[in-house]
Amino acid sequence: MKTIGLLGGMSWESTTAYYQLLNEGVKAALGGLHSAKILLHSVDFDEIATMQREGAWDAAGELLGRAAAGLEAAGADMTLICTNTMHLVEAAVRAHTSIPLLHIADATAEAARERGFKKLALLGSSFTMEQDFYKGRIAEKFGIDVVVPEDADRKIIHDVIFDELCKGTISEKSRTEYVRIIEQLHQEGADAAILGCTEIGLLVKPEHTDVPLLDTTELHCAAAVKMALA
Ligand code: GLU
Repeated sequence: MKTIGLLGGMSWESTTAYYQLLNEGVKAALGGLHSAKILLHSVDFDEIATMQREGAWDAAGELLGRAAAGLEAAGADMTLICTNTMHLVEAAVRAHTSIPLLHIADATAEAARERGFKKLALLGSSFTMEQDFYKGRIAEKFGIDVVVPEDADRKIIHDVIFDELCKGTISEKSRTEYVRIIEQLHQEGADAAILGCTEIGLLVKPEHTDVPLLDTTELHCAAAVKMALA
């Protein structure tokens, strides 16, 4: 079994889900007392969020790249960046390491392709919804269309992530807003919704809507378990 290196803490609310899902995945595959081999570098998310707001992506890439190099030096065989947004600096992380990095958008798009989805709604931070590193990758590499909510709804989604979900707050009112946005995009033609922020699955679950959901945290972990056991 390969050792999985996690760049986590972005936020730690979702990194706890990674820890649990990876261990559950290995246990389901191997049974008995088996569990995942994991190394975790958990950052202070305030430092990262400040860099995001200031557009200091080079500094953020350097910070995560060095952290990934540390994971490799400590024995990691593969790396996961436990946030969709910070895949914006994926190239910098790759540049600091020689072990494979499992991209969260690839894990998600593979699952979408297997389920035959052609058009996906993307909910995530404003960086993820508005820049091209995520939507563009899914469109170019997988030929799947990605649509995002309108301006006002993007702001609601982004603010709930940083003001609530990353601080451990789960609110019924915010869930209602998210479900409204997901169902509207579905009515407009999206086959499914990407929960493209690793905390959204803490708020919106399949029992809250009939629209198919692609939970990036779950899909990233499932793909990582497969890779670790291959
Ligand atoms: N965890 C979130 C994501 O998947 C947001 C936190 C961040 O900006 O890294 O994008």
